[in-house]
Amino acid sequence: MYCGNDQQNLRRWNAIALVRRLAVSVSLSVLTGYGVAQEKQVEGELDGERPKAIAPRSTSNIEELVLVERGMLPVMISAPHGGILRISGVPARKGEGMQPGPAGFFTGRDGGTEELAQEVVQAIEKKLGARPYSVISRAHRRYLDPNRPAEIAYEDDDAKPAYERYHANCRAHCDEIISKFRGGLFLDLHGQGSSSQTVFRGTGNGKTVSRLRERFGEESHTGDASFFGILDTLGWRVYPKPYGGREQSGFTGGYIVQTYGSHRVEGIDAIQLEFGSEYRNEANRKETAAVLAEAVSRYLEIYVPYQK
Ligand SMILES: [Zn+2]
Repeated sequence: MYCGNDQQNLRRWNAIALVRRLAVSVSLSVLTGYGVAQEKQVEGELDGERPKAIAPRSTSNIEELVLVERGMLPVMISAPHGGILRISGVPARKGEGMQPGPAGFFTGRDGGTEELAQEVVQAIEKKLGARPYSVISRAHRRYLDPNRPAEIAYEDDDAKPAYERYHANCRAHCDEIISKFRGGLFLDLHGQGSSSQTVFRGTGNGKTVSRLRERFGEESHTGDASFFGILDTLGWRVYPKPYGGREQSGFTGGYIVQTYGSHRVEGIDAIQLEFGSEYRNEANRKETAAVLAEAVSRYLEIYVPYQK
């Protein structure tokens, strides 16, 4: 569901975090410079999945709560909102003092995206003969939201290890991709309930793919051979279109792409994808993953030379 951040919300979140935690973490410094607008979006849950949206059992095993895989390709797959597991001893977040709703405090999951992320890993391996890096949350968003700064991502300290595992591995994977390949592609997978047939791009309107644009020009982000241009060619309904248009407010890219994007020296080119339900429901996930893998292959061919 809504995963983009917006400047007003971030200011509000920051203020809340300060009041609630009585401590300012260094990580807040990464929040400067976000740019999006207000957004009203509906929940990203899939039809018919609500009854099993939260697992009956809980676990404190962080290896189970956050799946991590070190890959062999300059590609990183992240999926923070598709999980259903409870975290042992952790009550549901309350979001006290925070604005409720998708753009503020929100606990709805992005149905099907945990499974989709795993399908994408398989499809990329099938297409390219090697697996991408990945970090996938299996915890329900009620307990943990990895796409938020730590101060507002969880409310119980027992959820902290899972949050830290998510981000420590995103960081480690980006570091390794940079040192091995000099750059790469970070795809953060989400689900939105606004348009079932559309996939929205979130890059902070080009910010999180800054290195790509510097090296290859604006066309690499807005042209037919851009990542979303390729997906359009492969038959997806993408937004924005034309690709140089403004990204949909609310879907312009959240904390994860803003943290690991290439506008930072230590980042790589990062794109948030907000999938409509038709792309992530059980019947279509495999096909979605196959198309995404094809797009990744074509993209790497053009922009990320690496030893096959
Ligand atoms: Zn999401």
